[in-house]
Amino acid sequence: MPHRLESESRKLLGRLREALATDNEGQARLDAVVELIADSMLTEVCSIYLFRDAETLELCATKGLQAEAVHQTRMRLGEGLVGRTAKSRTVINTADAPASKGFRYMPETGEERYSSFCGVPIQRLGDVLGVLVVQSKAAREYTLDEVYALEIVAMVIAEMTELGAFVGEGAALSARHQQPVMLRGSIAQEGASEGVVYLHEPRVVVTNPISDDPETEGARLRDAIEELRKGVDNMLMGARSADADQVQVLEAYRMFANSTSWLKRMEEDVKSGLSAEAAVEKEQSHARSRLSRAADPYLRERLHDLDDLSNRLLRILTGQGAEARADMPDNPILVARNIGPGELLEYGKKIRGIVLEEGSVGSHAAIVARAWAIPLIINAKGVTREALNGDPILVDGDQGIAHLRPDETVQAAFRDKIAMQTRAQERYASIRDLPAETKCGKHISLQMNAGLIADLPSLAGSGAEGVGLFRTELQFLIRTQMPRRAELSALYARVLKAADGKRVAFRTLDIGSDKVLTYMKPNDEPNPAMGWRAIRVGLDKPGVLRMQLQALLRAANGQPLTVMFPFVTQINEFRAARAEMDKAIARETKLGHALPSKLEVGAMLETPSLAYAPDAFFEEVDFISIGGNDLKQFFFAADRENERVRKRYDTLDSSFLAFLTHVINRCEKTGTPLSFCGEDAGRPVEALCFAALGLRTLSMRPASVGPVKHLLRRVNLDEVKAVMDEAIANGDQSVRRAVADWLVYQV
Ligand code: PEP
Ligand code: MG
Repeated sequence: MPHRLESESRKLLGRLREALATDNEGQARLDAVVELIADSMLTEVCSIYLFRDAETLELCATKGLQAEAVHQTRMRLGEGLVGRTAKSRTVINTADAPASKGFRYMPETGEERYSSFCGVPIQRLGDVLGVLVVQSKAAREYTLDEVYALEIVAMVIAEMTELGAFVGEGAALSARHQQPVMLRGSIAQEGASEGVVYLHEPRVVVTNPISDDPETEGARLRDAIEELRKGVDNMLMGARSADADQVQVLEAYRMFANSTSWLKRMEEDVKSGLSAEAAVEKEQSHARSRLSRAADPYLRERLHDLDDLSNRLLRILTGQGAEARADMPDNPILVARNIGPGELLEYGKKIRGIVLEEGSVGSHAAIVARAWAIPLIINAKGVTREALNGDPILVDGDQGIAHLRPDETVQAAFRDKIAMQTRAQERYASIRDLPAETKCGKHISLQMNAGLIADLPSLAGSGAEGVGLFRTELQFLIRTQMPRRAELSALYARVLKAADGKRVAFRTLDIGSDKVLTYMKPNDEPNPAMGWRAIRVGLDKPGVLRMQLQALLRAANGQPLTVMFPFVTQINEFRAARAEMDKAIARETKLGHALPSKLEVGAMLETPSLAYAPDAFFEEVDFISIGGNDLKQFFFAADRENERVRKRYDTLDSSFLAFLTHVINRCEKTGTPLSFCGEDAGRPVEALCFAALGLRTLSMRPASVGPVKHLLRRVNLDEVKAVMDEAIANGDQSVRRAVADWLVYQV
């Protein structure tokens, strides 16, 4: 950029800062801004349009158009050149506006007299807040330098809008992050809860978009880049050369961090008067708007890398790291782009609700949320952008809707809903000590899934008969280092004590897939769900498995013990794991330690292959537990974490039910006890159908025991089975509709 223009735009920014620093209210500030830009750029018209709502732009200030049009002229997103600028997130620069595609004549503005038009999106981190427009009578395209200066100014306007500098009368001038917003996502855990936003990743707040001294600012930027580069280099050195994928990602990172064009663009922005932070955000905004248009997966990934690097750079510049997290409020609703199970476990049960921008129902974080009965909404687009720490929020997990900063009517209706749910819970509590016995006299053993000591109090509260699945890996996930045998043994002993004689089926470590231990060598695999996980790790590197089995035997200390192995796909895997147990027993015997009075060793059936294992397998195992979450993903070849494909396949799909029937028949033939412990067991209609097929033990999250029992006690399983059979005979893909229709008249 020529030196003259550079200093021109710096001058403009300097004047802008003065205008913005006044005590004026929002409208006066906006008026001053348009005046100033029109004057500096020697153009007849300068206008600012801001979003009134997600779809409507409103003229909020103008120099040159009719003053009466302010707050009257509106256009839809995509409508007219202004609407198109916002929609395309790109600059529209034309010498002949009336002849341009999309031009819309608005008589109230007197606009037809202006030939040239340049619209620049006012955007912050890819979020378009409005449009800055200049127009002139002379038919000319604005020069690249002029457009650049407008972009710089638009960046400052965006930052100031975010900071609430233009708050005033009218919807479009209300402070951002203050209006009620309803966000629609998908249901991942039902329930309703009221609380305040707690951001998993705090937003970086830039308070100084304009710099005083470009020299110093440039030095700050270069120092920060240097620190960023060093950080990336250290990460690269830390990455093991064996982790080719990780190294590749970091190499790409390094390439960006060292990109001279990236730095140069930011340096130019700084020379033009932006602060280093604003310059980084300006580049980040560009990358995000490109990301929104890019279809090529490789390009998208690279743009994601750039976005990530920009975040790191911003944190270096502002000193606002993850450690700058706000104090956790009393009733926190966690808002995040996504979250892993380990991170969620770290927050613990204090979280009252979770709203994720991404996420998936099948993920382990979702399982943890369900186990804790925390309402969870996933795919709530825009939530991380809209929500601020401390904002009031209502999470309606039943509808998959979050109400951010709700108004009073929404709040009142919501509280009624919570009261209704409390009454339903009371109903369930009243049947807590009654058996889950159907009208036809069949007893279904309802057990609960657990994984932490903190889950155990639910055993008595829920009315579960035992713990059908104790996910031992959750204990490993909440730690920063591998627990020792003595610690584990003490922990399992506490679990058994809390269970007070009720059976607890301890599942050995199921690490891998989305359960990643920070203290274990990362294992980059193209498809971790089908990769080196669970018993595969246990058998290949038996150290941890052995330690765990020993810890379990010692914890039992003469009491009955139940252990099951996850993700067994073949008879030989079960035999090898069982042999480890036998060795552990031999060792304990040698040491003179007490052995369990009764030992059950089972396998989880989570892949279709195991259903076709030789009879010997069904005879050798003490029991089988169907892990429906994994089983379904492999049966339908549909990733449990990919919402798009997961939802296509119903658990009550006739083919899946036929498969379950096959497993039930095989177990009946050999007299092998069979249970189902995937998430579906906790859904009342699914539980009912499983029971009708012949499953007699179901293990679920504690909060489901009441609703499942409530339904089971009101039905005759033979009738349910007849309805299912008829639907299947009719060729229905799923029996859900038939069963649901039938239920309407039963209960
Ligand atoms: C399952 O796959 O159904 C299961 C219970 O195990 P997890 O969800 O922990 O993989
Ligand atoms: Mg599983």
